[in-house]
Amino acid sequence: MWSGVLSVKVSRLATSIIFQSLALLAVLSFFMPTALSARQIQIDGKSYIDLATVGKSFGMQAYWLKGHKTYRLRSQWTTIDIGKSGRALYLNRLPIHLGFPTVESKGQLFIATADYQHVLQPILTPQVFKERPGIRRVVIDAGHGGKDSGARNDTYGLLEKDLTLDVARRLKALLERSGFEVVMTRDSDVYIPLVQRSKVANRAKADLFVSLHFNAAGSTSASGFESYALTPQYQASSKFPRPTSKDAKRYLGNEQDPWNTLITYYIERALVQGLGGPDRGIKRARWSVLKDIECPGVLTELGFVSHSETAKKVRSPAFRQKLAQSLYNGIVAYRKRLQRIQ
Ligand SMILES: [Zn+2]
Repeated sequence: MWSGVLSVKVSRLATSIIFQSLALLAVLSFFMPTALSARQIQIDGKSYIDLATVGKSFGMQAYWLKGHKTYRLRSQWTTIDIGKSGRALYLNRLPIHLGFPTVESKGQLFIATADYQHVLQPILTPQVFKERPGIRRVVIDAGHGGKDSGARNDTYGLLEKDLTLDVARRLKALLERSGFEVVMTRDSDVYIPLVQRSKVANRAKADLFVSLHFNAAGSTSASGFESYALTPQYQASSKFPRPTSKDAKRYLGNEQDPWNTLITYYIERALVQGLGGPDRGIKRARWSVLKDIECPGVLTELGFVSHSETAKKVRSPAFRQKLAQSLYNGIVAYRKRLQRIQ
């Protein structure tokens, strides 16, 4: 869909976006080469940066893998693989859905500048962003409740609303034990409208909002974890192929874009590390509960109750404790990262 309408204009910009954000923060100079000039191209009015330059900006090696289909950025701890014209990258194998497909031009691979800003910078160099959030008061949102059962598996007698509440209570106990303050959007089997849930977070002046859900799919083979951050302005959510005019709307939650990415990354990584995969990755959606919150937020899907192996596992309290423990580990890793960059 791109190639027919492309007008590719390559320009070398001495003052790139990378360079401008650098200028804001002199402290960052240690990880940046001194005279960096990003190689940018414009495609349909959208800016793209070439990945060799991106790699350099993060102090990473950058090269094509054999076969010239995958581009790799690599440092001691981090390997990022990015395919040609796809809309995902793999950060230490964790799939992250991008806003826009990558583009190859004249033997170089380009990533949308928006994805550089909304995916790579928040995870690799969150210190470039100002107004770092606190991390004391966590609002846990147990999805569904009351007349809204959510996903269900009748064979195993599972209702999503019961599972989310159980995991929420376990997570609350773990967080409180290590000094977090916890507010629950619900602590019983009651129906709470979606808009009410973000209001609870805002009223509590939360530092973090974590919404817990379980999935169900028509296909009984679908399984694994996936975690959602609010879709940035001007981007299509992951299930849509391209942005429309509706995607130009900016929500209050978009003020937290970098931190939304960062917490979503830590939550998804902790779930997969703690419980194995499948890792369905970090996705974007404009879930109602994420749109209007004034703090960083994540909505995580803790497995498919429609998948019988998963259903059998989530019936067990010990497994639900492991889910809570992994979520806790993700929140603690996020807290450590924020503390490191204060
Ligand atoms: Zn749900």
